[in-house]
This record gives sequence, C-alpha cells and structure tokens, in this order.
Amino acid sequence: MNGTPSAVIDRVKRNLVGLRMPRALEILDVTLRGIERGETTALDALDILLTEELTLRENRRVRMALQMARLSAVKTLAGFDFAFQPSLDKSRVMALAELQFIGRAEAVHLIGPPGTGKTHLSLALGVEAVKAGRSVYFASLADVIATLARAEREGALREKIRYFCRFSLLIVDEIGYLPVTPGGGNLFFQLVNARYEKGAMILTSNRGFAEWGEIFGDPVVATALLDRLLHHAVVFQIEGSSYRLREHADLLPEHVRMKASIQPAPIPPTLRHRGRPPKNGGADQDIG
Ligand code: ADP
Ligand code: MG
Repeated sequence: MNGTPSAVIDRVKRNLVGLRMPRALEILDVTLRGIERGETTALDALDILLTEELTLRENRRVRMALQMARLSAVKTLAGFDFAFQPSLDKSRVMALAELQFIGRAEAVHLIGPPGTGKTHLSLALGVEAVKAGRSVYFASLADVIATLARAEREGALREKIRYFCRFSLLIVDEIGYLPVTPGGGNLFFQLVNARYEKGAMILTSNRGFAEWGEIFGDPVVATALLDRLLHHAVVFQIEGSSYRLREHADLLPEHVRMKASIQPAPIPPTLRHRGRPPKNGGADQDIG
C-alpha cells in the first residue's frame, strides 16, 4: 500500500471522495503542511480531519431535521430573556431542555397571553430535541386539524394519525387563537388519544383549560382531551407582558395595555432623572 508521498496523498484524496468526506478532503492539504512544518502531530492531524468531518455531518443532520420538524423559526433557550418574564421559573424550563419529558411521554403546557414567549420556548425545546437526535414535528392546532380533516376526507385518517405518532415530540402551537372547525376537536382527540402515554407533546395556548370547551366547541371533547393531556403533564402559566410590545407599551390605549397586562417600557435611569432636581432638592450643594 506504499508509494511516493504524492501517490499516497492522491490515494488518500480518492478514498476521502469515496468515503464522502468532503470536509476532510478540503482541509487535507493544509493539515499535511502543518505536519511537514512540525506544527501538528500525525495523531492531531487525524483527530482534526475526523472531528471536522463529523461536525459538518452533524450540522447537516440538524439542519435537515429542523426542516423535517417544520419548526417555523430557529429559536434558542439562550436567546430567551428570562428576566423579562419573571413568572416563568427558569430552572424548570431549563430542566425541560434535558428532554426527560420526551422519554416519559409527558404533555408540557405553555399558557399565557400573546407575546409572552410560548412559541419561542416551544421552538427552542424542539431545537434541543432535534439536536439530541429526537424526531420532532411542529404545527399550529389549526394546521394539525386541517391535515387530519383532509386525511379523513381522503379515507386516510388512520395513516395520518400513525404518521403523527412517529414523532417523539409533537408541538401543537396556538390552541385557542382560532375557533376549531366543526368535527376538528374530535379529530384532534383521536390524535391525542393515540399519542397518550406513547409520545410527548408541547401545547401552547393563550386561554386557560376552563375555556377549552368553548375553544373546541364541545365540552365533552374538551373534557376527554384534558383528561389525556393533564394526566402526565407539566404546566407553565406565564403571567407577564408581551415581549413584542415591550417598546411600544406607552403608545397603547390603557384598556389594551391592562388587558394584555403590558407594562410600559421602564425609563432608563439616565432619562428618568434628566431635568429633575436632585432627590434632596440639591441640599448638598446648598450646605457648602
Ligand atoms: P407567544 O407565542 O407567546 O405569542 P412568541 O414566542 O411568538 O410569543 O414571542 C413573540 C416574539 O418575541 C418572538 O420573536 C420571540 O422570539 C420574542 N420573545 C418573546 N419573549 C421573549 C423573551 N422573554 N426573550 C426574548 N425574546 C422573546
Ligand atoms: Mg405564539
């Protein structure tokens, strides 16, 4: 298997092509130069080539899986400002990111007014799950129901439910924003029932459980849904202000602000005191 160094290098390159290792191929020459100059040991070089190749593959896998999961945007837990949402226990959320809830097939509920980060957190947890190699599917309740209804019309409801059951984590966003179409609650119940104790779910809603009868247009279906979805469940009730509106709260009419419990953006300390007399009326200066 020997030859002149350049013949060996050519063979290594061909083998890297055959093994589909484009990143290792790309950095081979520069790595070999490092060895020649005595900057890199042979062992380090091997390590660099394999690590770079694996990183490329891993990134590609995550990118593909994120697409498959239909996550509407890539959000991260690191990008979530917990200080803005004090009603949310950061350590409980971070514990979720360890993903044991997926193995336990639990239902995680994120409940709160618009703009409080429910979708953000559900996407971020979806991203964590994808990175950990779990299969994830993200959709709004309206989309899930529309998909199930179409499948039912085409006589393929069972298959569609089986399809939704294949994902380790199903994220159902926006429960309560739109009225559920007639029969939709029943279809959703069939899906929830099929996943019950088998697969984890994250559900986000701007409405409390007491309103599910109204949302699903059927108290019996709502009760059956909640029976499954609250059995092995983790509930996060977010009682905060809208992150979307945080910079514009002072422009909103009072009744809208109250309803959404939006606080005006805090005035930065530098502005707060501008033009006002010092706290003690400037007494310090007067004394001297
Ligand atoms: P909800 O689903 O509760 O209506 P979103 O998760 O869609 O709210 O949040 C609205 C926007 O504000 C998104 O762009 C989201 O990334 C951002 N956001 C919300 N809360 C926070 C937060 N605490 N820290 C950082 N970004 C946030
Ligand atoms: Mg949302």
